[in-house]
Order: sequence, then C-alpha cells, then structure tokens
Amino acid sequence: MECNRCDAEAVMHAAYSGAHLCADHFRESVEKRVRRRVRRDDLVPREATPENPQTWVIGLSGGKDSVVLTRILHETFAEDPRIELIGLTIHEGIEGYRDASLEACVELAADLGIRHEVVSYEAEFGVRMDDVVEDDPENMAACAYCGVFRRDVLSRYAAEFGADLLLTGHNLDDEAQTALMNFLEGDVAQMAKHFDASLGPLSERRDQEAFVPRAKPLRDVPEKEVALYAHLEELPVHMAECPHSSEAYRGEIQQLLYGLEENHPGTRHSILSGYEELASIVAQRYEDDDGERADLRECVECGATTTRDRCRKCSLLASLG
Ligand code: SF4
Repeated sequence: MECNRCDAEAVMHAAYSGAHLCADHFRESVEKRVRRRVRRDDLVPREATPENPQTWVIGLSGGKDSVVLTRILHETFAEDPRIELIGLTIHEGIEGYRDASLEACVELAADLGIRHEVVSYEAEFGVRMDDVVEDDPENMAACAYCGVFRRDVLSRYAAEFGADLLLTGHNLDDEAQTALMNFLEGDVAQMAKHFDASLGPLSERRDQEAFVPRAKPLRDVPEKEVALYAHLEELPVHMAECPHSSEAYRGEIQQLLYGLEENHPGTRHSILSGYEELASIVAQRYEDDDGERADLRECVECGATTTRDRCRKCSLLASLG
C-alpha cells in the first residue's frame, strides 16, 4: 500500500483516520500532534523569553513513551532559549528492571545533551519496591504503592528544580483507559483532580500554587504509534515489563478498548475528548469562591498538599514501618 502523501510504501495504517503513511510522513504526523497539543494546552506562556526561560521537567522512565516525548520536545525546543528540559528518572528499587531502563535514560540524555537527574525510593523513603511487594501491609497491588510514591517524588523534585511544568509520557491509550476507569468507578472527584492536574489548557485549570502544573503532550498519539516512532527513530528504549506490574483492572479496560477500537475506530479519541470536557465542568464543582479546590489541605506529617489529614504517602510509609 502506498503512502497517502507521497509514492513511498506505507509503514502504517491508522483505521481511525483512514491514513496510510510512509516512515517520513508518519514521523512528521506524530511530531505535529505533539506540537499541536503543546500549543492547544498553551504550555509555553507569553511571559517565557530567553531572559526568563521556562524549566520543564520530564518524567523519564526509559520506556518508549517518555523517551519519545523527550526526543520530540528536544527536537522542538533545541534551538529555543525559552525552554530548558530536565529528565528526571525514578529508581523504584526493582532488581533487574530499573537498572536496565536507567541505562536507556542516561544514553538518551547524553545523546540529546539535556540535564538528567535520578532519585530513588530507597534514598527518599528508605524502601525498595521489591521489599514493599514482599511486606505488602495493605494487601494491595504493587502499582498502588508505587504510583503514590512516584507522584510524590515527581512533584517534590519538579518543585525543587524550579520547574514551571512537569511533563509525563502518557499516550492516548493510557488516558482513554484512565478516563473509562474513573467513569466506571463513578469517581467524580478523581475526574476533577485529573483535569486540574494534567488535562486541558493551562489557563483553564484551577491555579493550585502548591503543585507544579502537569502536562501530557503525547496524549493524542496511540500507544502502537509511539512504539513505531521509537522503532523507526532507533531510540534507546527499554522494552521489558516490570515484574510487579499488576494493574489487573486496567488490563481488563485495555482489552475492552482494543475490541471497541477495532470495531469502532476513533473510540479512544472520542472517549478522551468527551471526558476532558466533562472533567473540566466537574472541576468547577470542587472550587470554592476563590477558584481554589475546597477540599485541599496540608498533610500533618510532611506538609504535602492532600485531601486528607495525613497524605496517602505518609499513611503507606507508616504501614510499611
Ligand atoms: Fe511501579 Fe507498577 Fe510501574 Fe512496576 S509497573 S514500576 S510496580 S507502577
């Protein structure tokens, strides 16, 4: 099959748009979607100038998503003195897994010439995920502990590095799954939080001074296209799956979405765009008169912003002793 835009052979077919694209036009299309998302979410504010540059911290895990995001943002802003990129890698303490992906991050950062920082759960909290899984005092999936610790480390270090933005490599499949899970669980508060934390134009989100704003510029690109982009660009990507990966419910939703997408191409896009609009409306419900989230307070132990007396991270660390 030929590419729709030139005579070269197509390397991919996107059923949701009907496009057949060759390698060059496919790469161009992925980069265009990321740049369009940066513009639509107004991630580069007017006040950004070469004299007043913005610092963007990217959560860099070494997996395909964060590696592709880092590469495209670097290509986009390499010659732009208004944006400085920092890669932040978290070492969870998972034997035989994170060491290999850390190598991919170090290689990428060196190739691109960007600053790269590494933080470990062991240094931060005195725990390693391998031991957490063994103890499991809350009888939960590994990812439930790991996600709480990761969010805490990313937010704190982004603030410490003076970041204006914290970017993560969530793709279209990740975000459509999360949207559907929140909806099926009836978790309306989580929808509001999701919007304020990372979706929609920055100007429309509630201004929470305690948090570095987050952004997900890869969220218009399906997972398989991210993988194909990484492959075509021969990026240093760590492909192995975490041995503690255990999100059974997310796996079910993923399978459900694969089926829906096959029979009804474009389902993921429509889920996400409808969800973003809904979440934006819901977020307004949780504001007080000053436009702030009314349910936020400081954790009595670490001072982090939370909706409880003691934040989830401090509760988990207490259970882990
Ligand atoms: Fe942590 Fe789960 Fe990711 Fe493994 S799969 S690194 S346990 S969040």
